[in-house]
Amino acid sequence: MNERYARERLAETCKLLYDRKLTVSAGGNMSVRLNDGEILITPSGRNKGMLTPDDMVKLSLDGKVLSEGKPSIEHRFHLALYRMNADTGAVVHCHPLHCTALAVSGRQVRCNITPEGVLLLGEVPTVPYFTPGSEELVEAVAKAGKARAMLMAKHGALTQGRTLEEAFDRMEELEFQAALQLLAGDVEDLPDDEIARLGAMRWPYS
Ligand SMILES: [Zn+2]
Repeated sequence: MNERYARERLAETCKLLYDRKLTVSAGGNMSVRLNDGEILITPSGRNKGMLTPDDMVKLSLDGKVLSEGKPSIEHRFHLALYRMNADTGAVVHCHPLHCTALAVSGRQVRCNITPEGVLLLGEVPTVPYFTPGSEELVEAVAKAGKARAMLMAKHGALTQGRTLEEAFDRMEELEFQAALQLLAGDVEDLPDDEIARLGAMRWPYS
């Protein structure tokens, strides 16, 4: 992808995540794949509603910094997902309120209660808690790394997709499902045969 275009799209996506309250203050980190060997990622410690295209940091897939700026502390789990999934073009990690409410109280996000949840997300694993930036967290994310979306215990959520739009949509849908689940209380899943039918309609990923 053209680097200038990718920088602009990444800054727009960060602003959208911030404006939709899917992330707050400096929380979270977002990235996009440029080509087989390089990505752009958000800089460390900056408010996601105020980033410009030039703030994004270019990294090689083996973690070398190729531009100005300091990459997000979490850049290593982004790199792990790009290395293991050739079709992943974007990764979004943030701390949406309802996802995080579930994640701090040891609950899973249920994604089989509406058709959209099944279609966009499928099963959502929860990654155990490890310190942000730690190698243990990188390994835990990689272990769940074939999922479209995952919850991170006592921390937040992560999604990946072929494009920034797809990763964004999955985060928005994940947060919607978490909020729905908290509002609706103890509701039943869709019938098993319907979940299977909807599951067969989504793109083949994990
Ligand atoms: Zn985080």
